Amino acid sequence: MKTLEKTELGQFTTIKIGGVADKICFPSTTNELIDLMDKLMSKNEPWSLVGGGSNILASSHDIPGTVICTTGLNCIEQLGPTLLTAGAGVRLPRLSAYASKLSLSGMEFYEGIPGTVGGAIVMNAGAHGRCTSQILETVTILDLTKWKIEVLTPKDIVFGYRISTINPQEQIVLSAKFRMASDTEAAIRTRMKTNNLARQSTQPIKDPSAGCTFKNPIEINMPAGKILDSIGAKNWTIGAAQVSSVHANFIINLGNANSQDVCKLISKMQESIFEKYNVLLKPEIKPLGVFKESEAIIWTNADQTLNSSFIITK
Ligand SMILES: Cc1cc2nc3c(=O)[nH]c(=O)nc-3n(C[C@H](O)[C@H](O)[C@H](O)COP(=O)(O)OP(=O)(O)OC[C@H]3O[C@@H](n4cnc5c(N)ncnc54)[C@H](O)[C@@H]3O)c2cc1C
Repeated sequence: MKTLEKTELGQFTTIKIGGVADKICFPSTTNELIDLMDKLMSKNEPWSLVGGGSNILASSHDIPGTVICTTGLNCIEQLGPTLLTAGAGVRLPRLSAYASKLSLSGMEFYEGIPGTVGGAIVMNAGAHGRCTSQILETVTILDLTKWKIEVLTPKDIVFGYRISTINPQEQIVLSAKFRMASDTEAAIRTRMKTNNLARQSTQPIKDPSAGCTFKNPIEINMPAGKILDSIGAKNWTIGAAQVSSVHANFIINLGNANSQDVCKLISKMQESIFEKYNVLLKPEIKPLGVFKESEAIIWTNADQTLNSSFIITK
């Protein structure tokens, strides 16, 4: 199995932030992943799980233990006329392109989402009014609490807005089956192109980011980006972390930003919105690694620590 030691995790996150990890392992089969988990758990060693690294803020401090990166689990197969299976590490745009070539519709919304199948299920990734739970047939997981491979149907999982009950600390997504619909390749491609164009004109897709910083709050009938824009948050900069001038819910890395810069900026955004709207924005971005208590409050205050692998220090 490909293994890197003492390597910066930042090169495997889309925001290009992340300190030196003791080990980063890239299993290329589910058996390799299961063997690795067996070893780590029997020795009680710390571990964390990353897919495309497109929705996490990894700490710039050293990252203890083993980071498991699933991108080697990258097989896609057509199982039936409208049924596809994909490994946990398959990138979403590759999956939607694959489906379109088979004239299978349903994944057009994955175009431009730089995550993997595993991350998409955990986060119930979605766009343009569609989300992952709507196309899921089954999910195969390794349940670490029972040490058992299980096949779950969407009925076994509770999905919400950018959330699911799959807890990466206890359940590792190995693969998933997706139920698609038939259409012409041309029509599917047209929808993918439309989605892409919409994204290009509204998101800073060329800058390193971790996608939307906050979930849209349920208390106000306005997306988080619009709320942040209303208080003039665009271009706020701390260190080398900046609120994008294109979309106020995106934080971009101007070059050498670290996790401390991002945490401070997130704090400032939360505090300013709270002052104006009396609403605490909840981060969509998940923490990984070691964070000081003063940094971690951006998640803990907003009750957003579930399903995350991070350590809080004084
Ligand atoms: C430019 C940009 C645009 C984006 N646009 C969108 C969008 O339109 N819609 C949207 O929903 N999201 C969007 N995102 C966010 C992100 O791409 C999605 O949330 C994606 O689903 C995360 O997948 P990932 O593989 O990168 O997960 P990661 O960021 O690697 O991990 C996220 C969480 O999932 C867990 N995880 C990862 N793989 C597994 C697995 N196999 N089993 C169990 N747990 C796992 C991790 O431990 C972590 O807790 C965007 C991000 C960027 C950078």
